[in-house]
Amino acid sequence: MIITRSKALESIERSLAPHRKVSVIGCGLCAATCETGGEKEVRQIARLLGEKGKQVPAELMVDGVCHKRLLELLARREKGRLDGTEAILILACGSGVQTAAEVFDLPVIAGLDTLFLGQIRRHGDFREVCSLCGDCILDGDASICPITRCPKSLVNGPCGGAEEGACEVIRENRCAWIEIYEERSRRGSLDALKEIRSPRDHSRHTRPGRVKTSRS
Ligand code: SF4
Ligand code: SF4
Repeated sequence: MIITRSKALESIERSLAPHRKVSVIGCGLCAATCETGGEKEVRQIARLLGEKGKQVPAELMVDGVCHKRLLELLARREKGRLDGTEAILILACGSGVQTAAEVFDLPVIAGLDTLFLGQIRRHGDFREVCSLCGDCILDGDASICPITRCPKSLVNGPCGGAEEGACEVIRENRCAWIEIYEERSRRGSLDALKEIRSPRDHSRHTRPGRVKTSRS
């Protein structure tokens, strides 16, 4: 799931300063689960904008603002309500914001900061576990991603700086490589750590945006 965080109201206000009529669109998928862009948050920001003197012609939800086709359908269906809108505030991830910018011929403002691809640990508690590198090295034995969970993204670790299991860079985290060691030890596959992994092949990385996928 894409983890997002609400922007400060002052920051949103600054972005919306030139516009008087602002519609709000929330995302019923990731942002709703993060409680940053669900119906409740859309209602709340619409109320706050109203208190700041804005008009909010439409408060809308879509199950995936990043789904261009769904957003186009919403835009057609809600054309009447959106009439007169000068800007659209999007409560969704950066992909949703950019999709909305392609669909609406209006200024589109991000109401959230997009943080990472995360695991839901419990309600409101998310953990970054994958950086979408495009060349997954998880091999089934120690499924802990060092690219994401080691601040140095070491493919051969640990670096030697950990103290009592704590990462030397982010003290409140356990060293990812110690966790990998423990996991391999538990599974009886420590020998794999004796093999030195080759440096990462950066030509396989997915950013910036070289990968096209389709189900044709
Ligand atoms: S190795 Fe790459 S694709 Fe696999 S979990 Fe880590 S960042 Fe994600
Ligand atoms: S202490 Fe562990 S997690 Fe932290 S940078 Fe070194 S190897 Fe990576």
